[in-house]
Amino acid sequence: MNKERKLIIAGNWKMNKTVAEALDLIRDLKIELANVKEVDLVVCPPFTALSEVSRAVLDSNLRLGAQNMSENNVGAHTGEIAAVMLKEFSVRYVILGHSERRQYQKESDALIAKKALAVHAAALKPIVCVGETLAERQAGHTEEVLDTQVRRSLAGLSKEQMAETVLAYEPVWAIGTGTTATAAQAQEAHAFIRKLLAHMFDEAVARRVRIQYGGSVKPSNARELMSLPDVDGALVGGASLEARNFADIVKNSI
Ligand code: PEP
Repeated sequence: MNKERKLIIAGNWKMNKTVAEALDLIRDLKIELANVKEVDLVVCPPFTALSEVSRAVLDSNLRLGAQNMSENNVGAHTGEIAAVMLKEFSVRYVILGHSERRQYQKESDALIAKKALAVHAAALKPIVCVGETLAERQAGHTEEVLDTQVRRSLAGLSKEQMAETVLAYEPVWAIGTGTTATAAQAQEAHAFIRKLLAHMFDEAVARRVRIQYGGSVKPSNARELMSLPDVDGALVGGASLEARNFADIVKNSI
């Protein structure tokens, strides 16, 4: 597939996989994806598996991501994980503002922006998630919601930091539901976000930023979604938990 930006496909394992299960999955992914060079591949296990998985991916094309990070560097923040701790395990990417964290942990755009700055300060790359709910889409508010989330979640980033940030457009109604955005809906939202980035930063930054699509990506719909001009990869939940599915998504995207 001839793309303007290199695709980045990340598996968000969420709260799944013990260490032993994580290592089994990595073993299979390394076999399935050994020859893939065309796509940046990222796996985001739970924190408890980062140590072992970091060793297991050393000799592979799989890069490591975390599912969240504290906006603070150190200290009295019970239950939180700091950048320096992730860096011990060669983590490169950090998912921020996933809709599950926005919904269940009540993470705000302002908090996500603070986290994004902390991620960059540690020379890691954030994957910042945005996306509308079904009610917001049905009310015709998709662009308004995306505008607000993108502006506020990326507030304070420099052009250089923005260029190294990955965005993930994840319509909440498509996450874990089996319902995928149509190609037209995905392209429209991605193009809207890119235009907004050009306005907030500049054209060159907007052209560089990779925008992943997330929401029930599976082997059968990956090719069409990844072929869209403003779709630069995928953030995959459920289908990333099984090596064959994740590998087929990657292979169908090349
Ligand atoms: C996600 O949680 O980021 C996601 C896209 O999940 P799923 O692929 O299961 O819809």
